[in-house]
Amino acid sequence: MDKTLVMKFGGTSVGSADALTRAVEIIRDATRDWARVVVVTSAMSGVTDLLLSSANPSEASVGADSCQPLRDAENKLREKHFAALDSLVKDETLREQTKTEINSLILSLVDLCKAIAVIGEASPRALDAVASLGERMSVRLLAGVVNEAGIKAQWTESTSFVVTNAHFQNANPDFKVTSEKTRAVLNPILDAGIIPITTGFIGATPDGVITTLGRGGSDYSAAIIGKALPADEVWIWTDVDGVMTTDPRIVKEAQTLPEISYGEIAELAYYGAKVLHPKTIRPVVEAGIGLRICNTFNPSHAGTRLTSNGKKNGRVIKAVTAIQKQRLVTIEGRGMLGVPGVAARAFGAVASTGTSAPLITQASSEQSICFAVPSETATTVTTALEETFAREIEDNDIDRVWSTDDISIVTVVGAGMRHTPGVAGQVFSRLGEEDVNVLAIAQGSSEVSISLVVDAADTENAVKALHGLIVQ
Ligand code: ASP
Ligand code: MG
Repeated sequence: MDKTLVMKFGGTSVGSADALTRAVEIIRDATRDWARVVVVTSAMSGVTDLLLSSANPSEASVGADSCQPLRDAENKLREKHFAALDSLVKDETLREQTKTEINSLILSLVDLCKAIAVIGEASPRALDAVASLGERMSVRLLAGVVNEAGIKAQWTESTSFVVTNAHFQNANPDFKVTSEKTRAVLNPILDAGIIPITTGFIGATPDGVITTLGRGGSDYSAAIIGKALPADEVWIWTDVDGVMTTDPRIVKEAQTLPEISYGEIAELAYYGAKVLHPKTIRPVVEAGIGLRICNTFNPSHAGTRLTSNGKKNGRVIKAVTAIQKQRLVTIEGRGMLGVPGVAARAFGAVASTGTSAPLITQASSEQSICFAVPSETATTVTTALEETFAREIEDNDIDRVWSTDDISIVTVVGAGMRHTPGVAGQVFSRLGEEDVNVLAIAQGSSEVSISLVVDAADTENAVKALHGLIVQ
């Protein structure tokens, strides 16, 4: 069987004429080594944000002329897509036809936004229709540019084969139906020697209503399509050299990891390294597909390869990340000892506010439960907890519910920790040497990561100190 490669381009990788030129060369190179190439693209950078903000009725109605923000958005979208077409597509028919198609999508944005303004409220379903326009424009643009470069390409919209539930803004695909449809739509194009260029991020319900897979979901689309075909490899083209040992804005010695295991990157994706949408991993692991992250702006760099085990390169700690702008919420009281159901009720209350807690700890004394929530949700969460435990608070079984000032969750990741005693010791010694006070600790039973809570002001010091443990 001929080998199949799925390549996904992120927003910055198709965000300008320069980026598009690079993307075309990357596609051309891929066709030399791969008989079948499928391209999945994000919207041009900034477009999804712009679309969603123009659909926000409160924003649209600010100022004397309530239509002005929408008109500005319309103009910006036209300018951005048309400028790229003007500089890259010399063939007039192709250029004008692509412009007409993109323009009609922009006009449908105007209709959608006006309808939303009349109702005064944007439903998740309406927002998905709006957000989908970015990818629907970028496939047409990219296909135009690729065809102009003499590579046969055809755009398609994944709404015709990625079938999801109706959970708008965070839809889940039905893999069985999606696989059948993906093959039915993409295989004939591939068999004809043409590169399908398809939308990331979006799908449709069985009834054909447009859904999105969640912000940053184009990576996930590539994995879904990769699994459906199935592809041999999925490559994610972005604007960094792959997965780094830490955020280079915090530590300038940060390096690209040539390899990282699925388990390790899962921890990293969760803990704020925005290299890969967390849902991307599961379909590729299940289908045994190779995954690679590479840089459109530095294509000769090998990037990062995802592996099932991670290479044993002697480094136990592979990466350090920080989630900032969090607060610790604590429920405290002696009366909680041995009382079943406190945690269930506490997290029920947290869930009722639509907040998710990235870190939870409870010591065996059972006198407090403590967890992190994004800072902006802390007041809502504590209020919900006070209401839930009103009786216990009155009876003094719970003394108080309170939240800290801003904190950061610093996480060290490395699958090797599982078999190496003393890693936690090293981590705490390093932080001690730097005078960083640790407010709370969590380690998952998978032992792939240790998370520490530190004061916001200590974030940089903590990350730098722990990064020192990697490069030693
Ligand atoms: N365009 C979408 C977003 O900005 C999806 C993606 O880029 O992955 O969230
Ligand atoms: Mg992304």
